[in-house]
Amino acid sequence: MAKIAIAGTGYVGLISGACLADFGHSVICVDKNTEKINLLKKGKTPIFEPGLEDIIERTEKSGRLKFTSNLKTAIQESEVIFIAVGTPTTEDGNADLQAVESVAREIAKHINSYKVIVDKSTVPIGTARKVQSWIKDELKKQNRSQDFAIVSNPEFLREGSAIQDFTHPDRVVIGAESKQALSIMKEVYRALYINETPYIETDLETAETIKYAANAFLAVKISYINEIANLCEKVGANVQTVAKAMGRDPRIGAKFLHAGPGFGGSCLPKDTMALVNIAKKLGAPVKMVETAIDTNEKQKEKMLEKITRALDYKAKGKTICFLGLAFKPNTDDIRKSPAIKIIPELIQEGAQINACDPQAIANTKIELKDYEKQIKYFDDEYEAMKNADCIVLITEWNRYRTLDIKKVNKILRKTIFCDLRNVYSREVMENAGFTYIGVGT
Ligand code: NAD
Repeated sequence: MAKIAIAGTGYVGLISGACLADFGHSVICVDKNTEKINLLKKGKTPIFEPGLEDIIERTEKSGRLKFTSNLKTAIQESEVIFIAVGTPTTEDGNADLQAVESVAREIAKHINSYKVIVDKSTVPIGTARKVQSWIKDELKKQNRSQDFAIVSNPEFLREGSAIQDFTHPDRVVIGAESKQALSIMKEVYRALYINETPYIETDLETAETIKYAANAFLAVKISYINEIANLCEKVGANVQTVAKAMGRDPRIGAKFLHAGPGFGGSCLPKDTMALVNIAKKLGAPVKMVETAIDTNEKQKEKMLEKITRALDYKAKGKTICFLGLAFKPNTDDIRKSPAIKIIPELIQEGAQINACDPQAIANTKIELKDYEKQIKYFDDEYEAMKNADCIVLITEWNRYRTLDIKKVNKILRKTIFCDLRNVYSREVMENAGFTYIGVGT
């Protein structure tokens, strides 16, 4: 079994580390955030991801999963080092590679034997070679030489179903130039290999391009159906029926064809921007992706317009109940969440917000701390609805899909229901006495 270090213990690093330990490997998860590591050492999980706590508990008990802030020891004790640090967007729309470079240089400082260094973070095409050159550069400064291999192994897990995605992936992509590294990577993923998971072995640049191309395609699909939804509103068609019929065609597929407030999260917004920037720089622009980003921004503005129109353009003094804050259900991640963009705009217009979410309140309190006077947080959605003038269902957690509509009708001051995820039927809601606003329905 392999000895593995994972640099970066966030959504990807922690889930990869826990699952790889569950496959039987010996894994050390490292993070520079000591608070996170201390929490993990106490048996607490810093993020919400269904099923994660159980795997961490199980693998820690077995001694196969460890946590540390000491990158040096983790490097020296491992033969495979995954880089799973964040690659956020810089002000000019590129992927920020500072954390990747810092880990690469640390690896070079402490490398003591042959290592396979794996780019798991989503990084611009060409980064694997940069990692290689940063390491060589650092070794040169120290007047040392040490054999190592670079691998690009992009991650496709989705928050909310990350454990299932990591342990049952549609494919494992491995970009490498060295046969030795490839065979070590096969050993790392042996549990999947014997399950006949499709393996795509390729070169570094192709592996890096696959990740961006896949994410951008999903973004295009979402923006496409949102544009069709806007058209449906003009012509009196129903986008849900349109999407359902489209999705029956296997060439199109039903997934990612749900009209709504636009894509958010830590991946699609940042990866589409990075791809657009790379492609522009190289003189091969991806216009469709540029348009998808533009449509996505406009979609959020459209949602704001929908809500204020529902309130007769008088948001001032109104109480708006937000069902959901996370960018999607089953996560506490609020990065680029439509709710986090729309709430401050409604507050600027004078509204008061009652917000609820099963997992994302703590993160939202930090992110929207400037608005603490205008936002009240509730664990119970019915409490949040009391005396509200309007409901905005923006994250389709299961508990918001199964509301007691009669009860909701009685609690609200005004029965306006903005269903930005098209969870409820217009007919049912209107018959129940609501003013119902959907997206493209
Ligand atoms: P994250 O922000 O949750 O976690 C990144 C972690 O890296 C943080 O805990 C941070 O403290 C740590 N870190 C930063 N610099 C470090 C350093 N020098 N040494 C050690 N630790 C350091 O990010 P994430 O969502 O896990 O994403 C990580 C990467 O994976 C990104 O490139 C992202 O695009 C990609 N990715 C994310 C997802 C997802 O759903 N979140 C899915 C696929 C790919």
